[in-house]
Amino acid sequence: MTHPLKTTDDILTKDAHLIQSFANLDALKQNDARTAIVGAEGIHVTDSEGNKLIDGIGGLWCVNVGHGRREIIDAITEQLNTLDYYSTFYNFTHPAAAALADKLASLAPGNLNRVYFGNSGSVANDSAIRMLHHYNNRLGRPNKKKILSRMGAYHGSTHLAMAMTTPGYSEEWDTAADGLVHHLMEPCAYHQAEPGMSDAEFLDVLVEDMEKAIHDIGAENIACFIAEPIMGAGGVLVAPDGYHKRMREITAANDIKYIADEVVTAFGRLGAMFASEDVFGMQPDIINTAKGLTSGYQPLSATIISDEIYDVISEPGAMFLHGMTYSGHPAAAAAGLANIEILEREDIPGQVQVTGKIFENALRGLGDLDIVGDVRGSHFMMGLEFIKDKSTKTAFDADDNVGGKVAKHAQDRGLIARALGNSLILSPTLILDADNIASIEAILRDSISATMDDLK
Ligand code: PLP
Repeated sequence: MTHPLKTTDDILTKDAHLIQSFANLDALKQNDARTAIVGAEGIHVTDSEGNKLIDGIGGLWCVNVGHGRREIIDAITEQLNTLDYYSTFYNFTHPAAAALADKLASLAPGNLNRVYFGNSGSVANDSAIRMLHHYNNRLGRPNKKKILSRMGAYHGSTHLAMAMTTPGYSEEWDTAADGLVHHLMEPCAYHQAEPGMSDAEFLDVLVEDMEKAIHDIGAENIACFIAEPIMGAGGVLVAPDGYHKRMREITAANDIKYIADEVVTAFGRLGAMFASEDVFGMQPDIINTAKGLTSGYQPLSATIISDEIYDVISEPGAMFLHGMTYSGHPAAAAAGLANIEILEREDIPGQVQVTGKIFENALRGLGDLDIVGDVRGSHFMMGLEFIKDKSTKTAFDADDNVGGKVAKHAQDRGLIARALGNSLILSPTLILDADNIASIEAILRDSISATMDDLK
């Protein structure tokens, strides 16, 4: 054991050297702002004070099959005992990476048959863009490089992935790719649609915005459109029905590649292995995935590209000048294989079609509370937006941090939820049963009521 820190004090003293992600570092200097998680099993985690908490955010939208699955841990251990590490650079390969690439090719829709492994969703997204830029260079179209993304999107924290993310995430931080990315309108009707507008009318507005961008920038200058099937970290923002299909038609008609960022939505969260085809009825040119690929047991991402793109970047004379030391790491690939075996054997995506709907309906039921302005999402990917006055849609001030207040009450009552300004996000493990869901609903109702009392 190389980290024998037993007490909360021990951990937090050493933790002064750790830089947390997306954190108010100044606030974290106070010990009571930090929670040390020391164990996990099934749907729960345990903190250093011995509190058992329902993991309402599945680690970070990723622990799809639940914590402590012996099968995955054993697969990783066995792999490390056989082959601890070898790269997939040059002409090298190894059985775990080959088997997982083959498995993903069989699961991904249509001609998405070629897999590039990375170690994070950010890297998957950056890799897709690098490959498409190279693809267009090979085709003699060096100007076809611009990226259409969307307000509200989150695509990661590398410089390029952050440039594709909604600008609000990089306030006071630079992005390296200024001028390369154009952000289309956020597709969430609650925020963007005019009062009284139907879903179909709002979709027309979004289509017009896309068509105008293509007209203004020129299709000959645009490499791709990148979109999450449902936006996660932007606040669980759901586009109107038919949006992805329409966008797919427009991009295809303009020879613009469609990248589906399924870092969160793949591997069961919406009741399907991949949401693009099975939930939204369209096949992109590239699917990026990470998180649920290993249920978070190992860091791994996959950029799954079409044969058509692959054929161009692998033609005679082309070199694939892109690589990460840990691409297809044996332990991560073994975790991915064991994780997918569980997802398939237990038919977790099929179960989610039932339990995820129970979860979604339970959360929608909280819409009767005075400060719950909107309940959004699908299955095990849900968000609540808190609002000062429902009738006038008057928002709370950013400083009110209502999401943070509700999350704190929830944690005190045994549930980890994620605050995002005045919203709260839930993305639990996919193995919750109806009783677990009822407990979560009760904790949330109680926590929101307690927050309403705080705000009086
Ligand atoms: N894309 C989406 C949709 C995400 O939600 C995230 C992370 O939350 C990322 C990309 C970035 O993934 P990572 O944090 O593994 O780099």
